[in-house]
Amino acid sequence: AKQTGKNKDVYYSPEMRTALRQTQEIKHILHTACEEDGFYLLFQPQIDVATEKVYCYEALLRLKNDALSPAQFIPIAEESELMITIGRIVATKAVEQLVSWREAGIALVPIALNFSPKQINDKDYATFLKQLLDKHHLQANLIEIEFTESILINNDEEATKLFQNFLAAGIQLALDDFGTGYSSIRYLTFIPVNKIKLDKSFVDIFLQDGKESFIENIIRLAHSLNKKIIVEGVEEEAQYLKLKHSNCDYIQGYYFSKPIRGDQVQH
Ligand code: C2E
Ligand code: CA
Ligand code: CA
Ligand code: CA
Repeated sequence: AKQTGKNKDVYYSPEMRTALRQTQEIKHILHTACEEDGFYLLFQPQIDVATEKVYCYEALLRLKNDALSPAQFIPIAEESELMITIGRIVATKAVEQLVSWREAGIALVPIALNFSPKQINDKDYATFLKQLLDKHHLQANLIEIEFTESILINNDEEATKLFQNFLAAGIQLALDDFGTGYSSIRYLTFIPVNKIKLDKSFVDIFLQDGKESFIENIIRLAHSLNKKIIVEGVEEEAQYLKLKHSNCDYIQGYYFSKPIRGDQVQH
């Protein structure tokens, strides 16, 4: 039981108590990871369909003890300012990775970072990122920010300002998880992204026989708005071939590669 402001007892069911305890434990793990360098990044290649070469890597966050997946800990980080701290850790690690690749003589391609709607409260994030890149003499277009359309809900003006900050700094933008949530086509006409990522759930439904024309039309729609399309969660050759046939620009998925460690990248 816990005391509320009005001094009444609120009783939690055993299930709720267990959930609360787990949330508290995860918060503790995340706080510790922030303080003790407990995170690392994996990198999943994005493939240019025309050349079949890697043209970008998406940074995916992991805990060093691998106790929890991002699907488990990101939503809890998003409940507090932890997400802002973590967002900056991710940006710092991504830039450090670009520096390591450069030192190893690897031709640099951009790294895409996931950007939580919670990070909209991190007003200086774009400046922070730009300064980090400048400090290491890295081009700003080596970082791309993936955001989901949920950032626009109730936040139109703030989000627009945020996008302007990124674009003014020379940082690229991509719309993530298209095909989930509201997926307003209206958004597509005014958000300043040059890349749209179709969610895996889309692939699973629309790359079945007889339903391919739907994907083809989405790709055509994106192209008519001068945007590139990347499809994520591509696992099978048949899916890849259908996408290639439909003029899809880029793909990402286990068919080409699972997320890998930065030091596994070589080219
Ligand atoms: P997301 O941004 O949609 O990332 C794609 C997820 O799909 C990744 O899961 C990736 O490992 C997985 N994936 C890639 N290819 C395939 C495939 O062919 N098949 C299947 N079944 N899965 C595939 P992951 O790494 O577990 O990340 C889950 C989510 O956690 C991400 O979804 C993203 O929303 C969030 N996330 C991860 N890292 C970060 C981060 O640094 N910051 C923020 N804010 N969110 C992050
Ligand atoms: Ca993403
Ligand atoms: Ca995604
Ligand atoms: Ca997703």
